[in-house]
Amino acid sequence: QKAFHVSWDQFHRDARALAWRLSASGPFSSMIAVTRGGLVPAAIVARELDLRLIDTFCVTSYVAEGVQGEVTVLKGVAAEIAAGAGAGVLVVDDLADTGATVKQIRALLPKAHIATVYAKPLGGPLVDTYVTEVSQDTWIYFPWDLGLSFQAPIADARR
Ligand code: 5GP
Repeated sequence: QKAFHVSWDQFHRDARALAWRLSASGPFSSMIAVTRGGLVPAAIVARELDLRLIDTFCVTSYVAEGVQGEVTVLKGVAAEIAAGAGAGVLVVDDLADTGATVKQIRALLPKAHIATVYAKPLGGPLVDTYVTEVSQDTWIYFPWDLGLSFQAPIADARR
């Protein structure tokens, strides 16, 4: 597997490029950040598009790097945002890999606009807007990922 290390600067540029592309697809009335990966890009895109009504869709999918587990929904979206099948809603995530997460969101909110910063070939066609495609055998390391700093989460140290 190839490793693609993304710096904070690069990520900020790519997330702003996503916002620029999305400005032609709106307007959007609200945003859903897919946690946790979508939290940082959602903050950047929300600022660029001046969106202030933001909900989270909390899922967990990966058990280990490169190994996919089931997509488990921990928290859905608020009723007022899910109303209208997600029309006018912008969904933001960091990347689409297999597309399993995107499929889940599409089933829930068929009219929402789904955007990711990066996409692998399997996930890309399922997303409405993304910026950069990387190969399926690439693992992307985000600046907030552990692999880069070899640090355990702060929560572990406090246990
Ligand atoms: P998917 O459902 O499209 O297979 O992937 C969903 C989630 O898995 C992504 O939102 C992301 O959090 C995680 N993921 C998949 N591939 C990668 C990767 O290459 N790097 C990182 N850091 N996370 C990944």
